[in-house]
Amino acid sequence: MLCRACDLAVSRRALPSGVRAICPRCKTPLYDTPYCAIDGVLAMCIAALILYIPAMLLPVLEMHFIGSVRTTTVWQGALAVADQGYWVVGLAVLIGAVVGPGLLITSIFAQMLIIKTHYYRRPSGRRILVVLLRYHKLLSQLSMLEIYVISFLVTSFQLSDFADVYFGMGTFCFTMLFLIVLFMLREYKLEHMWGYLNEFE
Ligand SMILES: [Zn+2]
Repeated sequence: MLCRACDLAVSRRALPSGVRAICPRCKTPLYDTPYCAIDGVLAMCIAALILYIPAMLLPVLEMHFIGSVRTTTVWQGALAVADQGYWVVGLAVLIGAVVGPGLLITSIFAQMLIIKTHYYRRPSGRRILVVLLRYHKLLSQLSMLEIYVISFLVTSFQLSDFADVYFGMGTFCFTMLFLIVLFMLREYKLEHMWGYLNEFE
């Protein structure tokens, strides 16, 4: 990058927490730490991975309707929508609520491991990290947990008129998963991750 004040070419690198880069020639502040707490993100990743399985497999909705009890998981919901002919919607639910978040969490988890183990200093680790970082934007756009959380809240309000609706353990796990991913993405800084790759250039 170039210094705003004197046009000196400065190579960007990852900074430790709370540090500001200044131009070596004219002392103009260049950029602040886009800091990413690796340990914090790693911890949230592990929590998200643990919650992911029950969030997908346990019932998110439980309906009691004239003596019969029906439960639905995220998977079944998506398949049911597809079965009714709305296969685009079903596919969107599968990608946005199941596949997207799963890939995103796994990708961030792999990135944190590569940083923690210093594997990115080897050519093979570097290549993997480049691919993961390149696809990060796409994966974060694909995961739409928030839309799914809102939609099952809306659905349950509508259904509550003619059936008793209960939230299952899956709802709890799914909502927790949503919150953890939200905080994880707040803490995660793509720019900081690219910084690790520039460290040796
Ligand atoms: Zn300067």
